[in-house]
Amino acid sequence: MLELYHVSRSFAQNPVLNDISFTVPGGALTGFVGANGAGKTTTMRIIMGLLSADSGSVTLNGQPLTGATRPNFGYMPEERGLYPKQPVIDQLVYLGQLHGLSRSGARKRAMELLARFGLDDRAKSKLESLSLGNQQRVQVTAALLHEPDVLILDEPFSGLDPIAVDAMSSILRDYAARGVPVLFSSHQLDLLDVLVDHLVIIQDGRILADSSADELRATQASRHRLSLGS
Ligand code: ATP
Repeated sequence: MLELYHVSRSFAQNPVLNDISFTVPGGALTGFVGANGAGKTTTMRIIMGLLSADSGSVTLNGQPLTGATRPNFGYMPEERGLYPKQPVIDQLVYLGQLHGLSRSGARKRAMELLARFGLDDRAKSKLESLSLGNQQRVQVTAALLHEPDVLILDEPFSGLDPIAVDAMSSILRDYAARGVPVLFSSHQLDLLDVLVDHLVIIQDGRILADSSADELRATQASRHRLSLGS
């Protein structure tokens, strides 16, 4: 389980995260939802250790994460990071090697993942020649190459059509089922309401909800009944 405790962060005296706490359970898909500018990317960068918090802490299974103890995270950043004009497999092999895999080990793992995503026949294609949905799957492949113990994905569903959304969510759900905490951000609450097991809602740098999707649906249903007067 990944936990944030009372994390705050300001930029130039401007508070962006205000004392946020939430949990990302292992074995479940957690959606992190909020409008543009709510603080999702800032939170993920703090979890990844790419940005420091002004106060508060992040722990994994009770152990505080510091620069030295953030070992095996998979991260898909908002700005992505793969090169459009380079062949898919070359980039994945290179990244796998950066994560310590051998060249042949990285190629084998990349081809296995691409096959799972139905993309093995596109391995030699330039990334830009793939549809947006397939490019997103390649970006997720890059985050999964080294079999991370925690998976953090910034807007993996953005721009996907409904079929690609289903495919992506089942890939992430399978990965979470190994017991891994999986956190991904989105600004589409309606989409996530049906996809996730656990939902964290952030607004203006404050956590509005941190609950299981079932609890949230029950709350919404009772609100709906109340609004109908029954
Ligand atoms: P989006 O989906 O638009 O990326 P977000 O929820 O991920 O939204 P953040 O990117 O975390 O939001 O940004 C939250 C706020 O923090 C925004 O007002 C943004 O302008 C500000 N911010 C983020 N990074 C910096 C920075 N390095 N310097 C100054 N302000 C920043």
